[in-house]
Amino acid sequence: MKTTFPHMGNTNIVVKALFDYLGIEFIVPPACSKRTLEIGTKHAPEMACLPLKVNIGNFIEAMEKGADTIVMTGGCGPCRFGYYAEVQKEILKDLGYEVEMITLEMPDGDIKEFFRRIRRLIGSQSMLKVPMAINKATKVAVELDRLDKLSFHTRPREKVKGKTDWVMRKFQHQVNKVHGPDSIIKLIHAAQKELNMIDIDQSFKPLKIGIVGEIYTVIEPFTNFKIERMLGDMGIEVDRSLNISGWIIEHMIKPALHLRKNRPYEKAAEPYLNSMIGGHAQETIGSSVLYAQQGYDGVIQVYPFTCMPEIVAESILPAVSNDLNIPILTLIIDELTGEAGYKTRIEAFTDMLVRRRERGFAVNEYILSGN
Ligand code: SF4
Repeated sequence: MKTTFPHMGNTNIVVKALFDYLGIEFIVPPACSKRTLEIGTKHAPEMACLPLKVNIGNFIEAMEKGADTIVMTGGCGPCRFGYYAEVQKEILKDLGYEVEMITLEMPDGDIKEFFRRIRRLIGSQSMLKVPMAINKATKVAVELDRLDKLSFHTRPREKVKGKTDWVMRKFQHQVNKVHGPDSIIKLIHAAQKELNMIDIDQSFKPLKIGIVGEIYTVIEPFTNFKIERMLGDMGIEVDRSLNISGWIIEHMIKPALHLRKNRPYEKAAEPYLNSMIGGHAQETIGSSVLYAQQGYDGVIQVYPFTCMPEIVAESILPAVSNDLNIPILTLIIDELTGEAGYKTRIEAFTDMLVRRRERGFAVNEYILSGN
């Protein structure tokens, strides 16, 4: 069995840590590219969400390299993610691919089925190894998110441009060559140390922008045109409201173990959206409120065309913007989005934030939205 899985930011490193530890043979799909998207767009329904299209491209590219089994997360909920795995399975079947799809979803009722799927993945290995593997992979996710956060801090402040990117690129290159979660964590720590040694301008006070929106487009750099790096290169510090470790801990581990969740965004979103409507709409609203309260200069919402929860969030954000005096830009992405136009909109937004700061955060004169 040669397993594969979809890309989403650094998720491939977390899954690598998990599968290395469990001795599961796997093939990482090639990094998301124009070709990946073209393949997905060709075979997925036109109105399907962008992440589904990119995932289809990932699977086909991995199968071209020999993968025969796909591992997906699943679930049920008010948005389309719940039936992604089934739709993808049918698309691949129609295309003639002989592939097994193993969907791992939270065991709401059928716990036996959940363990049957885990058993299919780990073969004859002891089930007792699984909790330790999940624990170690979660630690990798936490450290990866710390590494990203550190890069968001150093990139706008570095005295020699490109140093942060160099460290991050070197890390991405090396991580494929090591085996197991412990070696991966060692490598992450080495990269964190290198970032900490970069000569930065301590007195520089960059603009701060919070990134909110649909999880896939927020986390996967191919779909958001590397927005974190783009803003960092403009001398802006970013914060990402969603990350992989938060998703694993708050949305997978804690619900499964019935542990108390830590979701400050829920309280913050309450005056505007007081229930979960699917996707990450509540996080989008709540995180925007929190960014405003923390003195951020602006917020950028990113989401794929036709994403239902984020369309609802977008309709609420002007109220957040007006009430809390924080400018919010919405960027909607699909397979036809061009990088030049996308970048121009970001530059116009950041220029406005600079002028606004020069005037002492006077008035929130713009709310930019739309595609
Ligand atoms: S959150 Fe949006 S993009 Fe993701 S599956 Fe749901 S509708 Fe599609």
